Amino acid sequence: MTENATPETGMVPASPQNLQASTPAPIMEMTVDDVVKQLAKIDDLVKRVMVDGVHYGTIPGTKKPTLLQPGAQTLNLAFRLLPRFETQVVELGNGPRDYRTTCTLWNPMGQFMGSGEGSCSTMEKKYRWRMAELTCPACGKTTVRKSRDGGWYCWAKLGGCAATWPDGAAEIEKQERGMVENPDIADVWNTCKKMSCKRALVAATINVLAVSDKFTQDMEDMDPAAVAGTAKTEVKAEPVKAGPVVDATAKAEPAQAVRPAQPVNGNGEPATDAQVGKIDRELARVGMEASDAIQGAGLSGEYAHTKKGASELIGWLLKQPGGAS
Ligand SMILES: [Zn+2]
Repeated sequence: MTENATPETGMVPASPQNLQASTPAPIMEMTVDDVVKQLAKIDDLVKRVMVDGVHYGTIPGTKKPTLLQPGAQTLNLAFRLLPRFETQVVELGNGPRDYRTTCTLWNPMGQFMGSGEGSCSTMEKKYRWRMAELTCPACGKTTVRKSRDGGWYCWAKLGGCAATWPDGAAEIEKQERGMVENPDIADVWNTCKKMSCKRALVAATINVLAVSDKFTQDMEDMDPAAVAGTAKTEVKAEPVKAGPVVDATAKAEPAQAVRPAQPVNGNGEPATDAQVGKIDRELARVGMEASDAIQGAGLSGEYAHTKKGASELIGWLLKQPGGAS
């Protein structure tokens, strides 16, 4: 199945038919001066308009900043490039899906300028797994806690109903806890589809503007909040260089397939199965909900699912007394 996808780009997707000029302009080759001018314009945009943590993210230990969707939009606005998206859905059976998007960029004359590809799978760890929380069978809230004196109670302070259960109560202890396969995988279909569009847009922008020497697309889908505040290293220090000559005729070549974003370091690498198991056991030992532990450790939910975050969470859990209430 193929659908046209428009992520919240804030831009009107180009419709080449509508944009077709009555007299098609000849495809112009760029002069070397044009190339130098274009690259200088990009550098100027990076300096004066784009903000670290918003338009691009700098991951400590990596050389090039990661171009984020707002940054790609800014570049496309500056160069009047209009994106168009085509997304293919691949059903993997019983819920999981892959989304494969091709983003094409068009100039206002309706000329195809180049493309990029992006994909996203609901089998990616951050979509596949969910932190399952104990739910009160009486009131339906996730306020059930382990009591210090044994048994379980629904904590009224958190808005629960104060019901109690003895140790071994099946309706509590048989509930799935910790990281479980997302039971509502359909809920992430749309998120995942948008993500494949974002990745394709970033890939297309990097391809068409030939800025792969300035930006990478690794981790472009990283939560901007997680990127913000990271070390500002060598983002703006890069000298203007005339990169490969951007030849308008060359742009009509099919864009190289851009691999789906892979985390490049511990920041985004998903928690290992061993870590998930350890977290499960520690949560059971201290009688705590995953969400409370994450909060208690001062982590964000998303970060706690990464290798580094999980390791911090484990460290915090190990310091907690057993059966806390
Ligand atoms: Zn309750």
